[in-house]
Amino acid sequence: MAKYGILIDTDFCTGCHTCEVACQQEHDYPVGLNGIKVTEYEYKLANGKVKIDCIPFLTDLCDLCMGRQADGERPSCVKHCQTACMYFGLTSDLAIEAASRPRAVLYTHTPK
Ligand code: SF4
Ligand code: SF4
Repeated sequence: MAKYGILIDTDFCTGCHTCEVACQQEHDYPVGLNGIKVTEYEYKLANGKVKIDCIPFLTDLCDLCMGRQADGERPSCVKHCQTACMYFGLTSDLAIEAASRPRAVLYTHTPK
């Protein structure tokens, strides 16, 4: 199992895309490349109301901000998330945290 990971509580993700911008600026990625991508899924509930789910996912370009970790800093996306719904840490700790959240995703990412 990967030692470190990122937990995202999607219940609080607004789809603001700030995490994408933070990643691009941190790594100087050109337009179109990113370590994180936010997708949106829009659908109608039984009561007729429209709901939009926002789900960020890590791409293969994510290196978990190894350079920042070496300086004792959190990953850029985690630091700049506008709703503070992203958490970085030991996979084992994050798995426990995820269990108490109804709609969280845990990325146990191993940088290539
Ligand atoms: S952890 Fe770093 S490299 Fe990975 S998505 Fe976040 S900002 Fe990008
Ligand atoms: S910065 Fe946070 S709230 Fe905004 S899209 Fe990314 S994960 Fe969601």
